[in-house]
Amino acid sequence: MKRRDFLKTAAVGSVTAGGVLTGCAREQGGQGGAPAVQTQKTRVWKMVTTWPKNFPGLGTGAEFLAKAITEMSGGRLQVKVYGAGELVPAFEIFDAVSRGAAQMGHGAAYYWKGKNPALQFFSTVPFGMTADEMNGWLYHDGGMALWEEAYAEYGLVPMAAGNTGVQMAGWFNREINALSDLQGLKMRIPGLGGEVLRRAGGTPVNLPGGELFTALQTGTIDATEWVGPYNDLAFGLYKAAKYYYYPGWHEPGTTLECFVNKAAFDSLPTDLQRIVRVAARAANLDMLSEYMARNNDALDTLVNQHHVVLRRLPNDVLAELRRLSAEVVAEEAGKSAQARKIYDSYRTFLAKVARWDDISERTYLDIRKG
Ligand code: CA
Repeated sequence: MKRRDFLKTAAVGSVTAGGVLTGCAREQGGQGGAPAVQTQKTRVWKMVTTWPKNFPGLGTGAEFLAKAITEMSGGRLQVKVYGAGELVPAFEIFDAVSRGAAQMGHGAAYYWKGKNPALQFFSTVPFGMTADEMNGWLYHDGGMALWEEAYAEYGLVPMAAGNTGVQMAGWFNREINALSDLQGLKMRIPGLGGEVLRRAGGTPVNLPGGELFTALQTGTIDATEWVGPYNDLAFGLYKAAKYYYYPGWHEPGTTLECFVNKAAFDSLPTDLQRIVRVAARAANLDMLSEYMARNNDALDTLVNQHHVVLRRLPNDVLAELRRLSAEVVAEEAGKSAQARKIYDSYRTFLAKVARWDDISERTYLDIRKG
C-alpha cells in the first residue's frame, strides 16, 4: 500500500488513528539487516478558528499553519482547519480546545479578555508595540514564557502564529474631528482599544469578522474597525461606510495566535512538538509578509475604484486617545498580580525597544522619504 493511501485510510473517521508503517526504515538494534517494523501513530487534529474559512491573511494563515505541520511531519500529524461556526462559533474556540473537543485553535488573545483581562497583552496594546517589537518581546525577552504560563491555567499551549502589522483606525459614517465625535458611537472594536473607546464615551462591541458587514450596513453598529485594506476590501466594508480612518492606534501590530490542547501537545513526540512550534513561527512571518505585500494595492482599489474617503485622525484626537489609553492600560494591568507581571515585562521591553526604534526604524524611514 502506498504511504499516502495508508495515511488516507488511517485518517478516516477518527480523531486519532493508529497504524503500522512498514518500510525501509531501520530501527536501531534491528536484527540481521532485515527490514524493521516501525510503529507510528498517525494523528488527525482539528483546528478551530475565529475566521471565515480561507479568509485572506487570517483564514489562509491558519491554512498555512495546518499545511506546514501536515507536510513537515510527513503526514504523521494531519491538521484540518474549520472556519468560524463550522464546528463551534468563533468565540467558543478557546473553550473547545481547552476541553479537548478540538486539538488546536487559531484566533487572537484579546478575544478572551472576558476570561482574564491579562491575556489581552499577548495580542496588542493601544499605542503599544509594533509587529517587530512584539516578536522581539515574545521570542527573546520573556513574553512567550509569560504567555505559556497564563494559558497553562486553561490547559493550553499558546504560540504566536501571525501578525497584521499596523491596522487601520476603521470605518465611520461621520467625520471624526474631535474626541467628542466618538461620544455615543457604537463601534465594533475588540480588546483594550474597546475599553479606550468606552472611556471616550463610545460603546464598544465585539463581533466576529464574518458578522461585521451586515452589522454595519443594518445600523446595528455605527462604526467598525477590522484589520487593514487587504482584509477590509475583502469584506466589502466600503459599501457600508464612507470614511476610512488611519492609523490603527488601537492595534499597532496585532499578534494572532494558535493554541494547542496541552494534553494533546504533551502526547506528541519531541520532533512533532518541534514541528508545530517551528510551523507556527513560519506562519507568524508569512502572515505579516502577506499583509505587507497586499495592503498597498487594496488601498489603491478602495480609494480609486470605490471612492473611499481616506482620512488621518487629527493629532489632537490621537493625543487624547493616547492619554486615555495610558489610563485604561494601567487600570487593566492593576486587575491582578498576573496582569501586573505581564504588563511590567511588556512595558519594560517597550521602553527599551522604542529608544532603539527611534535610532533605527524611525530615522531610516524619515531619511528614505527625504
Ligand atoms: Ca482589528
